[in-house]
Amino acid sequence: MRLDNFITKAIGVSRSEAITLIKKGNVSVNEIVVYKKDTHIDENKDIIKFNDELITYKEFIYIMLNKPQGVISATTDKKDKTVVDLINVKRNIFPVGRLDKDTVGLLILTNNGKYAHLSTNPNHHVEKKYYVEVENILKDEDVSLFLNGLEIKDGNNEIFKTKPAQLEIISNNSCYVTLTEGKFHQVKRMFEKIDNKVTFLKRVSFGGIVLDESLKYGEYRELTEDEVKLFKKEK
Ligand code: URA
Repeated sequence: MRLDNFITKAIGVSRSEAITLIKKGNVSVNEIVVYKKDTHIDENKDIIKFNDELITYKEFIYIMLNKPQGVISATTDKKDKTVVDLINVKRNIFPVGRLDKDTVGLLILTNNGKYAHLSTNPNHHVEKKYYVEVENILKDEDVSLFLNGLEIKDGNNEIFKTKPAQLEIISNNSCYVTLTEGKFHQVKRMFEKIDNKVTFLKRVSFGGIVLDESLKYGEYRELTEDEVKLFKKEK
């Protein structure tokens, strides 16, 4: 990345202000003051300082949010608060896939459109694991029903057969469900199909990335380097 471009993005000034700051000697690269606006820098390796203070800028950001109930998995909404409203970063981020308004848990947001799109592509079979509470008592036979696939309606009201899903019973009314697809209301509709009803739904992992349980509802953090690798590896 060009140095003037980096300074513009990292400290939020205009391109011409960034050029002036560089010309005045306010910026150093690897401890050497540079005056050329078109100096090429590697934003992941080089140490860039502005007035002797380290500054960083990453082109792509990846955020893990513990989504609370009552917010919409979208960038904007006329009526309701969105997941993007919860994140205080001045970047053009959007959620990777969707969780229902009343579903909580792991949601990843990024400004990297390429990966966000691929993660939700049904052909990539990203594993999503949910903790589920249901109204009626779970039965052993439910495990094989989920594994064999169920005929339910998708978002266009068309009937489709679900791919093998793993159901792990925790107690009479709670379980984990792991899916490799993510059709509209899929978990809720699968339980409806077996005459049960979801009363609480929380996503606990996505493509091997596990929800950080230290995050309270509405809290978020950046993905670690290893988590970003997992996120990209899924493609
Ligand atoms: N399945 C659902 O029914 N809702 C969600 O939010 C996610 C999966």
